Amino acid sequence: MRTVRSLSDLRARLAEARRAGRTIGLVPTMGAFHEGHLSLMRRAREACEVVVVSLFVNPAQFNDAADLDVYPRDEDRDAAMADAEGVDYLFAPDVTEVYPDGFATSVAVRGLTDGLEGAHRGHGHFDGVTTVVSKLLNMVGPDVAYFGQKDAQQATVVRRLVRDLNFPVRIEVCPTVRAEDGLALSSRNALLSADERAQATALYRALRSVQAAVAAGERHPDRATEAGFSELATARIEPEYLAIVAADTMEPVTVIEGNVLVAVAARVGTVRLIDNVPITVMRRTLSHTETTVATPHGAPTT
Ligand code: AMP
Repeated sequence: MRTVRSLSDLRARLAEARRAGRTIGLVPTMGAFHEGHLSLMRRAREACEVVVVSLFVNPAQFNDAADLDVYPRDEDRDAAMADAEGVDYLFAPDVTEVYPDGFATSVAVRGLTDGLEGAHRGHGHFDGVTTVVSKLLNMVGPDVAYFGQKDAQQATVVRRLVRDLNFPVRIEVCPTVRAEDGLALSSRNALLSADERAQATALYRALRSVQAAVAAGERHPDRATEAGFSELATARIEPEYLAIVAADTMEPVTVIEGNVLVAVAARVGTVRLIDNVPITVMRRTLSHTETTVATPHGAPTT
């Protein structure tokens, strides 16, 4: 694996692969790799002939300067881990390579970014994400780019960005990788004390309890989230949000049906964590239609 710092070097190295018609996969990351990142790299390695992992702690998407300051960084460890996964290029540019003097452009997706993370971190967060993702897609020119379900709203926003601006890339979203006790892996988990790490397991328990309520037939979002709120309260966690939203719009639902997402964000100590579980509830009308179709001439079978 080769670490590349400059855009000109990256372009020169990828030009040959592109001319030869080799498929290029990109995994955008902010480093401090864990199994979640590695799962994206493995998926890219399986499907693409050239795998590029970008490592860039993007200052533009941090709404909190203290969060940026303490964000874990260990490029040597990351490079060794990416190398072990068979990654071809680690693109690790300096901030000035990405945002040279005079940089003045911003890419913004509206609507989808209003709720959840957008509401709590401000519009600037997603503007930072969509601007840097646009740049990375233009820099690398991948055929496929890999994102994690862990950041579900981000993945949905990126899909919309790519569709709206006609980026010639396929976006693939990979499942959330969890620790054995259910906590979603995150670079920020390294900042938790032992007690906070134990406390943080309540996030996934809360999501699971909402999922269980829906599986038991609850279709009202307020009632379905009750058990989740009480799991969090028991762990003395006050969530920024625990909400059920439509998976395509990220807007709160009034009835739980179709593809929805149960999403949570909370501070555990000073560390802000997010997690979600997708749920699909078949619409009753759909199964009714299927039943009707399966019955010849609508004749009752019993
Ligand atoms: P980050 O370095 O946190 O910006 O994450 C880089 C990519 O890895 C993003 O697409 C994340 O959604 C994804 N990712 C982070 N954590 C996980 C996880 N636990 N499981 C799967 N993907 C993840």
